[in-house]
Amino acid sequence: MRELSEAVFETIRAYVPESDILENEPMCRHTTFRIGGEAECFVRISSETQLEKLIPYFNQVEVPYFILGNGSNLLVSDDGYHGVILQLGNCFNKIEVQENIMKVQAGALLSQVSKCALENGLTGLEFASGIPGTMGGGVVMNAGAYGGEMKQVVQSVTVLDNKGEIFQLDNATMEFGYRTSIIKNRHFTVLQVTLQLASGNKEEIQQKMEELAARRRAKQPLEFPCAGSTFKRPEGYFAGKLIMDAGLRGYFVGGAKVSEKHCGFVINTGKATATDVADVIKEVQERVKDKFGVSLEREIIYLGRF
Ligand SMILES: Cc1cc2nc3c(=O)[nH]c(=O)nc-3n(C[C@H](O)[C@H](O)[C@H](O)COP(=O)(O)OP(=O)(O)OC[C@H]3O[C@@H](n4cnc5c(N)ncnc54)[C@H](O)[C@@H]3O)c2cc1C
Repeated sequence: MRELSEAVFETIRAYVPESDILENEPMCRHTTFRIGGEAECFVRISSETQLEKLIPYFNQVEVPYFILGNGSNLLVSDDGYHGVILQLGNCFNKIEVQENIMKVQAGALLSQVSKCALENGLTGLEFASGIPGTMGGGVVMNAGAYGGEMKQVVQSVTVLDNKGEIFQLDNATMEFGYRTSIIKNRHFTVLQVTLQLASGNKEEIQQKMEELAARRRAKQPLEFPCAGSTFKRPEGYFAGKLIMDAGLRGYFVGGAKVSEKHCGFVINTGKATATDVADVIKEVQERVKDKFGVSLEREIIYLGRF
């Protein structure tokens, strides 16, 4: 049964075309895990104005909402999400380039942004070319790989707060840390990101991207749905090695399994539920803690009831 009131749907319809409002939308269609129950309301955002109107309204009437990028760091409950999902994706993905500065809307995929940097002979974003998230999600998580991270290339971030105010945060105020930023702890929405890159040699940029893609293919279970590294890297250790040494390589519950190719990844072998994945994660955390005394902190985000 629908829990969001008709008034909420009417308000959304006042700002968003009917075709971009989906009711009871399966979230398995919007996560790289290919897992997740239904979202009561799923809205494809195409303008800042929509967010400026809807976010203060949801806060005022206490409607739960969640900002979704590409769902590549997310595990959505089998029960789904009782609230509104605001997806900042391919309707909100403009990229502008002026010399070595790129202005990127939050929904642009990092693969598109990196490709655009390459086409313009700009270096600095090679590390991000294989990360399957959006610009917004990348900044929230301070996504990084192979020695690069968002912190190194972000000049400023345009955000919207709960009250619908838009303002800019510069790099120093973003509180970037390992897979975190100020946005993770405050309820801000990333609208646009300004990147500062350097001019470089196109062939060298392309070569670097290809080399990193090959390293990913060799080490990561990209042939299965997943959400990237399941755990953060514990200081002084590698999560994958701890998990392997705890004898958990290939450990599974239902359709969720510790990847045999890289034990730091929990994969969906086909029909995994969110509960299967959460059970694998819990068991891995307990066994690694028992055996090595190390606490593995989750990198992936849980949405809904677990
Ligand atoms: C195969 C694979 C490989 C991966 N490799 C890497 C890697 O090398 N390095 C790495 O760091 N990560 C990696 N990841 C994880 C993931 O791609 C990153 O964390 C990415 O930055 C998440 O972006 P997203 O758009 O998918 O965010 P989502 O998963 O949609 O959301 C993640 C969080 O960001 C918030 N969010 C998203 N957009 C916005 C916005 N516009 N405003 C405010 N909040 C927002 C969400 O509310 C949520 O809290 C990998 C994932 C996969 C599946």
